[in-house]
Amino acid sequence: MLSIEEALDVVVEHAGRQTPSPVEHTDAVGRVLAKPVVSDIDSPPFTKALMDGFAVRAADLPGGEGTLRRVGQVAAGATPDRPVGEGECMQIMTGAPMPEGANAVVMIEQTEAQEDQIRFSAPGLKPGTAVMPRGRELEKGAVVLEPGHRLGPAEVGLLATVGHTLPSVYPRPRLAVLATGDEIVPPRTLPGPGQIRNSNASTVVALAREAGYDIVELGIARDEEADITTKIRQGLAADVLILSGGVSAGKRDLVPRALTSTGVQEVFHKVRFKPGKPLWFGKHDRGLVFGLPGNPVSVLVCFEVFVKTALRARGGHRSPRPALIPARLTAPVPGAKDRVVYHPAKLEWSAAGPTVQRVDWFGSADLRAMSAANALLEIPIGPPEHPAGATMKVLPLT
Ligand code: AMP
Ligand code: MG
Repeated sequence: MLSIEEALDVVVEHAGRQTPSPVEHTDAVGRVLAKPVVSDIDSPPFTKALMDGFAVRAADLPGGEGTLRRVGQVAAGATPDRPVGEGECMQIMTGAPMPEGANAVVMIEQTEAQEDQIRFSAPGLKPGTAVMPRGRELEKGAVVLEPGHRLGPAEVGLLATVGHTLPSVYPRPRLAVLATGDEIVPPRTLPGPGQIRNSNASTVVALAREAGYDIVELGIARDEEADITTKIRQGLAADVLILSGGVSAGKRDLVPRALTSTGVQEVFHKVRFKPGKPLWFGKHDRGLVFGLPGNPVSVLVCFEVFVKTALRARGGHRSPRPALIPARLTAPVPGAKDRVVYHPAKLEWSAAGPTVQRVDWFGSADLRAMSAANALLEIPIGPPEHPAGATMKVLPLT
């Protein structure tokens, strides 16, 4: 049986990539670039002043001291009408192009004007002071964003700056979810004897939407191979199909067989961790399939740990695995015996850094415990107890 780490490796290896397509740059936030972005301009497009003051030749003011003759002025958006010669200076505004000849700007606060005679007192003045050279931020023809870069707000602004309004990005995978089980009824139905409501599909829809993915619900399949197979066929149109239930070792656990009969290739079945050991993962020509164990907490944990990793990998993310962070235990926690446990937990930020404690948990069906949790605490196999104060790894939930 695979460990969590091994299973995550396998998921990333088999996840594949969505086919890149161009999208409007303001719709591309959160997506990953598939092609490099090249600047079509120098930025700034001209050498510009970074302060309101006077454009000078630094050599004319040894030690920043001296008096120069004002020969004009230049505002932002204007162009200087003459160069600055020896013994001269030109009044300049922030963002305005530097006049030829000048190589530094002295801020207005370090000057005193007597008509056109300007006295300077600018200790530390040197060529380049308060000046931004042309092309300092961006050079025309240079790659400003590499493939694999995730586009945040700064990157979207940068795309606008360089006129690259239709970047090529990996689209988000589209999902489908199918619940299985003879005992499962829709949430609007009052369950009869032996029945329970389908909470898993709603949980998966919410997990997907919260993370920004489109998802369709395929309803509930009976524990009969024909019914499961028909509904799986519909689900294979999605990039990633997610099933709940029917993957354990029970007699009515028909999902793995139904999947392989529709041409889905099993990649692994079972991972050495809790809650979610019977997890099934497979792929077909166009997409991926996860068979999640039916227990509601398993669904949540498996989605957070495995499905999201696959979705990020397909979406081109460079680090698709779950990002666990260190946090200190506020109370002792018993060690895991034979399987790593992902336990619902409360992560808090104290002045001394993040702390974590388990939330009470009545097992894999306990969504109420999950609703008090904002993280999963990873409990490794090993010591019989992890003492209060120990540093553990935690997966924050969005
Ligand atoms: P299974 O993986 O099919 O053996 O189901 C494991 C447990 O999860 C059983 O107690 C099921 O009743 C429960 N379960 C299965 N599917 C769902 C569902 N869609 N919503 C809520 N609970 C479910
Ligand atoms: Mg079942």
